[in-house]
Amino acid sequence: MTSIPPAAHADGTPLSVQLFTISDTGHGPYVGLPVTSVWDEDTAHLFTRETAVRIVANAARDDQGTSGTFAADGTLTLQWTETYNELGRIVIVTPDAHGRYLIGGLWPWAMWGDDGAPHTAGQAAFARGATEYRQADDATSLPEPLDGLYRQGRREAQLLSRECPGHREMFDVDPSRTPLVATQRPTNAPFKALPPGASEASARVVAAREVKAGDLVLASFDRPIGSGRITRSSAWMTDPYVAAPRPWNPWCVCTPCQLDRDLYDGEEPEPRVVFAVPEGRRTACDMWEPDEPLLVVPAALLAAPA
Ligand SMILES: [Zn+2]
Repeated sequence: MTSIPPAAHADGTPLSVQLFTISDTGHGPYVGLPVTSVWDEDTAHLFTRETAVRIVANAARDDQGTSGTFAADGTLTLQWTETYNELGRIVIVTPDAHGRYLIGGLWPWAMWGDDGAPHTAGQAAFARGATEYRQADDATSLPEPLDGLYRQGRREAQLLSRECPGHREMFDVDPSRTPLVATQRPTNAPFKALPPGASEASARVVAAREVKAGDLVLASFDRPIGSGRITRSSAWMTDPYVAAPRPWNPWCVCTPCQLDRDLYDGEEPEPRVVFAVPEGRRTACDMWEPDEPLLVVPAALLAAPA
């Protein structure tokens, strides 16, 4: 009865999200992300916090013999009620770095739709939105309020898989060490509009030393602060500039260079990659460590202004 599809396609691409329900309840669909190559009804899958809250509420109401509580730090404690299991088993789920919960083994999961439990048009619309999360938004083909539920399902799948349009993961530089996450570039003040022909969608990550003259420099990446955080998020420049590399001059008297030297407090600074940027009527240096990842639109992808 339980479906056991593989978690990756033959070419190794990870399987997309799947829809689950608690077997024979008609609850859900819950948008889940499998993390194993095969699964059965007890296998744990990843869920967003929002879905985890719904699952716990449904399971409690449906007498699955469990109760669950979220602590202030996000930890989810699931507990079998005494009448259900006198051993009083407790399962503590700590969310992953992206706030997702690995839940399974407390009740039988079933693939949504496989167990024959009845569902509503609203559930079907949510399910369709979730399964079409990588395709064009088709909500307008549905009447209200089904269009809203379609969009909810779609958004949930995008959040869980971290494939939402405004949230690209970039692994070009060193995937094993630090995932780089580019959020959507703000458009409000003081962020200036990109020059004509420049598209955020053409941006890519390169080390500072690889940036070529004419590339448009858009962002650097914040370093992780505090424990548990592994990703570096895009730090968008308010005023992107076209890179004009120039030699690093350890005796340069521009303001950024003097500030940089102050950080070294008399020690010899490490060599920098330098781009010339306007500073009032003069030219100043924008300096980077050679390995620093930067988000740029390569010159070749900058369409010539019409
Ligand atoms: Zn300088």
